Amino acid sequence: MEAGAVNDRFIGQRRALLNVMQERGIHDMNVLRAFDAVHRHEFLPSSVLHRAYEDAPVPIGFGQTASQPSLQALYMQVLQLKPSDKVLEIGTGCGFQTAVLAQLADRVYSVERLRDLSVRARERLDALRVSNVALLVGDGTIGWSRYAPYDAILVAAAAPDVPGPLLDQMAEGGRMLIPVGSRDVQRLVCIRRVDGRYTEDEVTACTFVPLLGRFGWESEAPRG
Ligand code: SAH
Repeated sequence: MEAGAVNDRFIGQRRALLNVMQERGIHDMNVLRAFDAVHRHEFLPSSVLHRAYEDAPVPIGFGQTASQPSLQALYMQVLQLKPSDKVLEIGTGCGFQTAVLAQLADRVYSVERLRDLSVRARERLDALRVSNVALLVGDGTIGWSRYAPYDAILVAAAAPDVPGPLLDQMAEGGRMLIPVGSRDVQRLVCIRRVDGRYTEDEVTACTFVPLLGRFGWESEAPRG
């Protein structure tokens, strides 16, 4: 790791981003260490490399974006992941968040509806020898029943309502973070399952690309 860092021309920018993330409320050292260990520039298209360590969403092609790092980190901080957690991510995108999750939990499952993004994410994860991640191309609004139940579910796209199959696939004691609202603005909600019941807390306001699928938005129809 340290030997590679010598050749890492982005190390200064990454350390600066970690400082910004701390200023924005990320204090969980496990989360910060995981964001230090995974290099966002290795997951982004070459056209946006110069923006790799901005604390901002960055385009990854196909009309999609890699989410804002401090918001991804907030997900992980709220979820309080531990190595034994089985994690489901909906919206693999470029695979960066997937790789960070793989630092924090031993088993990560990630679903992406766009095959091209999933294939590229797989290539990047393989190149970095990340071996504890399984990827699926499909509609994440129906979850991934094969490996359920999950201790933590992260939904990286915005839904009109919480998809029922994702609630069903939460483990006892499980947590889910999902942006819910209109296509333009949402609230990030944290759902917990305790004794078979669900509680819901609002974490923050946010804006994500739409979750498209059977239990999400119907299509990429005109906005509004
Ligand atoms: N965590 C990713 C976020 C990408 S943006 C990253 O930081 O790169 C959200 C992603 O969700 C997009 O790639 C989009 O294609 C995907 N998505 C939208 N609806 C989906 C669905 N029903 N199932 C799986 N993925 C979906």
